[in-house]
Amino acid sequence: MDNDVSTTPRALATEAVHAGREDLAALGLHAPPLDLSTTYPSYDTRAEAARIDEFAGTGARPDGPPVYARLDNPTTARFEDALARLEGTDSAVAFASGMAALTAVLLVRASLGLRHVVAVRPLYGCSDHLLTAGLLGTEVTWTDPAGVADAIRPDTGLVMVETPANPTLAEVDLDALAHSCGSVPLLVDNTFATPVLQQPVRHGARIVLHSATKYLGGHGDVLGGVVACDEEFARALRQVRFATGGVLHPLAGYLLLRGLSTLPVRVRAASATAAELVRRLSADPRVARVHYPSIGGAMIAFEVYGDPHAVTAGVRLITPAVSLGSVDTLIQHPASISHRIVAEGDRRAAGVSDRLLRMSVGLEDVEDLWRDLTQALSAPAAGTPRPAADAIPEPRPAAR
Ligand SMILES: *Cc1c(COP(=O)(O)O)cnc(C)c1O
Repeated sequence: MDNDVSTTPRALATEAVHAGREDLAALGLHAPPLDLSTTYPSYDTRAEAARIDEFAGTGARPDGPPVYARLDNPTTARFEDALARLEGTDSAVAFASGMAALTAVLLVRASLGLRHVVAVRPLYGCSDHLLTAGLLGTEVTWTDPAGVADAIRPDTGLVMVETPANPTLAEVDLDALAHSCGSVPLLVDNTFATPVLQQPVRHGARIVLHSATKYLGGHGDVLGGVVACDEEFARALRQVRFATGGVLHPLAGYLLLRGLSTLPVRVRAASATAAELVRRLSADPRVARVHYPSIGGAMIAFEVYGDPHAVTAGVRLITPAVSLGSVDTLIQHPASISHRIVAEGDRRAAGVSDRLLRMSVGLEDVEDLWRDLTQALSAPAAGTPRPAADAIPEPRPAAR
């Protein structure tokens, strides 16, 4: 048995509070320092030139102090190291937002002439839009997981999925999908699951993307994105980040590192509450259908028989707002907000019905949440009782 504390692998909950902080005691510190410098003194210009050449050539993180804040920041680097540890990857590279992170991944692949992306709907509305609009010179083929192998072309640079997906919570079998991808990198947006519930690299993904704005930050007060991957891909991402400038602000890096320390506790507590709300919603005659992933989590989607707008207008404790993953519970109507930018036909075909509501369950008491939800569902239009079986068509099943 190995009792050496320096070599025994640590549990996720332990990594969440210690990763990225290993050097603090030697620095005589307990809380991580926040470095807001935009530039750093360099009295030895020849050595600085060599460091710049090294970064331009390899994309490796510079040793010693950064040259300039667009290149690297020590506070953000602590968050990157910690997230990489939680996802089980060599490295992680942080960005100003989830969308800046996805942009950098697409630019890395496009710079190699690999402009074609194979993607599975649904994706977060703006990710769908970025691919569909081809803003970065990419071209997308939408397919279901079973169609991925056939959709791959010689110029395919990326296969992209979300699981559980935003907003339907549809799940993809990552082991099977990774097999279909062959040598094409598989990007999994792990924003909903977080590394607490799922580590996509263990299932064959090469690239793991997070909107850190959501669960990683966890308090609704920081915008950020991060890509966890092997060091080779991280080097290419750092070069793109330096050239395009979508860096994370160091205060955001500080808050995200702090958020990671409570991530396992928050996700487990909110998931337990979500599972109980799923049980109650599933038994409620005002609710047509409830979607909840097999891996669990704190996100719920459900379809109502009545007017979904009356539900979002009727909540009092729960906040009707886009975004997710905060300590407080949020509810929103994807067809109006998070997925508004996706064309109506594409949205419906992906299972995003006009009756679908998406709820991000927070850390409030389950009875208080249920009381608010059930009174909102009782609003006159929201609580339209279950119609006769032939009066309206059943909501279509969510696309897998
Ligand atoms: C919010 C979100 C994004 C975009 O992240 P931002 O931080 O808002 O740029 C990407 N993917 C998923 C699944 C999201 O929920």
